[in-house]
Amino acid sequence: MVRFFGRPGDESNLVSLNVTGLGVKYDGQAVRSIRCHELVAESLGRVLRRISEGPHRGILAKYAGCYNPRSMRGGKRPSKHSWGAAIDLDPDHNGLKTSWPIAATMPIEVMEKFAREGWIGLGWQIGRDSMHFQPTR
Ligand SMILES: [Zn+2]
Repeated sequence: MVRFFGRPGDESNLVSLNVTGLGVKYDGQAVRSIRCHELVAESLGRVLRRISEGPHRGILAKYAGCYNPRSMRGGKRPSKHSWGAAIDLDPDHNGLKTSWPIAATMPIEVMEKFAREGWIGLGWQIGRDSMHFQPTR
């Protein structure tokens, strides 16, 4: 991870991904750009644009963060958010303790749009925390 993405929390690897017009909102406020790792920006931009063009575009209004230097919940290893290489969507209905797809509401079509770019949805991979997507394990 470090060899590929650099040090966690190193903001010199971040770029501003322009998401104007895609309907992305954070806490109800329109978001014009997302700070993310330069190596994932293009791919993330394609995923978000495809979601915005589909029937589940409303999920983008529940964007809940990308770059955030912190450890994984309940662990010491840095989260992929520490590299700006993860994104959270609709945490209210797709939390850490909400099992997917039984209770969590993350649409399979959204997961497929991420998967098409090689991103992993945790709901799919571990059956919970389905808000969270990252481009690698
Ligand atoms: Zn996350």
